Amino acid sequence: MIDSVLISGAGIAGPVLASLLARRGVHVTVVEIADGVRPGGQAVDLRGAGRTVLDRMGLLDRARALSLQQEGIAEVDSTGRHLSEMRVSDFGGEGIVSEIEILRGDLADLLVADSKDHGAEYRFGTRISGLSPAGDQVQVELDDRSVCLVDLVVGADGPHSATRKLVFGPEEQFVRPLGGYMAWFTAPEGESLDGWYAMYNHPGGLVASQRPGREDGTAKASLSFASEPLVFDRHDPDEQRALLRTRFAGAGWRTPELLAAADVADDFYLDALVQVHMAEWSRDRVTLIGDAAYCPSPLTGLGTSLALVGAYILAGEVTSQPDLQVALQRYDELARPYVTTAQELPPGGMRSFAPNSRLAIWLRIATTRLMVSRPLRPLARRMFFSKAEAVTLPEYTVD
Ligand SMILES: Cc1cc2nc3c(=O)[nH]c(=O)nc-3n(C[C@H](O)[C@H](O)[C@H](O)COP(=O)(O)OP(=O)(O)OC[C@H]3O[C@@H](n4cnc5c(N)ncnc54)[C@H](O)[C@@H]3O)c2cc1C
Repeated sequence: MIDSVLISGAGIAGPVLASLLARRGVHVTVVEIADGVRPGGQAVDLRGAGRTVLDRMGLLDRARALSLQQEGIAEVDSTGRHLSEMRVSDFGGEGIVSEIEILRGDLADLLVADSKDHGAEYRFGTRISGLSPAGDQVQVELDDRSVCLVDLVVGADGPHSATRKLVFGPEEQFVRPLGGYMAWFTAPEGESLDGWYAMYNHPGGLVASQRPGREDGTAKASLSFASEPLVFDRHDPDEQRALLRTRFAGAGWRTPELLAAADVADDFYLDALVQVHMAEWSRDRVTLIGDAAYCPSPLTGLGTSLALVGAYILAGEVTSQPDLQVALQRYDELARPYVTTAQELPPGGMRSFAPNSRLAIWLRIATTRLMVSRPLRPLARRMFFSKAEAVTLPEYTVD
């Protein structure tokens, strides 16, 4: 059985795994490249099996207390008029806006605090610089020049995982661009959204959205655009802000205010919309979880559920199977069917999320209206909103 684990990445998957392992007596160290828990992101959905994991960890009530009060999602025109509405209650809390939506930063804070309470150690501003086999362990070199030996290394370092690159090879082998980019940042709410997550589509594949934050007067905004892969510096937010200004020049609704907010937001974050597909997630004593292994992309709304479920299964297996290789094999077998289902994109994928023409935008709105109409709701629920539950979670002891 393993005694020590080093996890790279303190997003969502890393801290969940850290907590579950530490609860079972494993010595856990988490290294995170950022100087602290990353604050950014919009609301993430807690639904289906992911919500069950938080429940089994005893954290659901605390998550509920942090959740946002939301009416639902509305497609709006350039004046802000609602063209379609999908209420939270329309699909029993499992629609596009789920019953429990929590700010990504709040969830990360909650999970990191919980794992620390159970004994996990965090080293911020630190990353892995080298990995090499060392008998029944792995030797880990960190960029602060320290070296440690652990039984297992876990890459939970997101879709651009450096752990994956070190062990499995270059990003291009595993990362599939979906044809667009998305930026998230905090913005003033401005004119009240009345609890609605408002989404505006502009011809040319542009999407602007704004949803109420947890504090009065603040909102979480997003600007997305369809595009072929672009070359830009992922570590230069100013270059990314300039990119948004060029793309969204002349777009309507609240876009000018949102661009101005993006310029000053300290949680500004932009990334390509991608999925990660890998035939194997583990090699020797290194394995991957969350977006590093199977990013489904925000278009599916299931990234957090996958991170929670993957971490839960991995922790359960490596602390109950005496043979690590058997445990890693079982992690793959148990989690993969859920991953495959969760990675199915909504019909139309990026083209449907960010339509190019006015006609395509209108068709999307008409489709939403049909989906929420009473006669079609049960069918729409089965077709689009039942994936989060598509796994039977094994029972592991969670102390
Ligand atoms: C700032 C931010 C905002 C996001 N906002 C949204 C959102 O609004 N909506 C949505 O659906 N999804 C969002 N996501 C993605 C979402 O968090 C994930 O899809 C999902 O929760 C799975 O989490 P994860 O822990 O696998 O990956 P992530 O949440 O991406 O966490 C990965 C962590 O690894 C760290 N890291 C990266 N490289 C290294 C390295 N070399 N060494 C050590 N640490 C490293 C990152 O700083 C990050 O903290 C966001 C991700 C981030 C990082």
